[in-house]
Amino acid sequence: MVEPRLIDAYGRIIRKLRLSLTDTCNLRCRYCMPVDAVFMDKQDYLSPQDYEDIVAELIDFGLEELRLTGGEPLLRGAFPEIATRLARLPLRKIGLTTNGILLDRYLDVLQDCRIQSLNISLDSLELNAFQQMTHGHQLARVLENIQKAKERGFQIKINTVMMRGLNDRELLNFVNYSRQLQIEVRFLELMRIGYACQEQTERFISAQELIDRLRPWVTLEPVASPLDSTSFNFVTPCGARLGFIASESQPFCGYCSRWRLSADGIMRACLLKSEGLSLRGLTAAQRQATYQSLLGMKPYRRPAEVSHAMNRIGG
Ligand code: SAM
Ligand code: SF4
Repeated sequence: MVEPRLIDAYGRIIRKLRLSLTDTCNLRCRYCMPVDAVFMDKQDYLSPQDYEDIVAELIDFGLEELRLTGGEPLLRGAFPEIATRLARLPLRKIGLTTNGILLDRYLDVLQDCRIQSLNISLDSLELNAFQQMTHGHQLARVLENIQKAKERGFQIKINTVMMRGLNDRELLNFVNYSRQLQIEVRFLELMRIGYACQEQTERFISAQELIDRLRPWVTLEPVASPLDSTSFNFVTPCGARLGFIASESQPFCGYCSRWRLSADGIMRACLLKSEGLSLRGLTAAQRQATYQSLLGMKPYRRPAEVSHAMNRIGG
């Protein structure tokens, strides 16, 4: 194992990177981006070689895990090339966060590139609510693709952003879904990022409220999680596996081990800080100096909210 060298003043060690491959998407989730979203110029994207160079360098500094994200990462034309290059690097784990719409087309590539851990967004099991939340109509396709990935042996976690009055009535349906498919479902609190800020008052539901609403119906047995885990987890006697990502009500900044690299090459030390530093066009020596600066840019207390859009940073 490499001696970690990215350690900040609070003793937090950077071991994980969220790598955004594009800011574009084939959905328009109402908590993430507007229907008429404006995207980056594709000419500004990092190239497959850039991704490989940066990640290889960060591995020498102690990086262990990578998660490919976006926007929708499977929309990036160079996805197979980027995944193939990254798969050659000595990483403990490479994961993918996806909305699942294109997943069936990439299962072979993912398997070949040992990308086994899939976080798949699924906000509703009902077509109407799915449409209301995502502005998309591909629910059946996403459900089918989840099933296919499960059959192929991928390790899957479902991400469900809970919004009052939109999908919270489906809480028990998701417990049932987890039990039936033997897949972990994680309920995310609506974060104050970009377009989601305006929905907070009406739609936010805390993880604790969800747990209180579940308790009369299911017994939740706690499961131990690593210190830097974003979720706290439970199993139920009926065999469901549930997680709660309480980034708003119970922030985990004190143990955060992540940086985020946007598709246009801005490295950010925190999802909730607009400020980041560009790595594009830098030499290896300049990038290394930039990493040292970034260590001082990770807030210890959680910023209240941020105006930039989630899809541009890489969720
Ligand atoms: N398109 C992929 C997807 O949806 O899984 C990857 C990118 S998306 C930005 C990554 C994750 O961020 C998704 O699980 C999404 O639900 C979550 N997300 C986006 N905006 C959010 C917000 N305001 N609050 C909580 N989660 C959010
Ligand atoms: Fe697209 Fe993911 Fe954002 Fe939804 S959350 S709009 S699927 S990037």
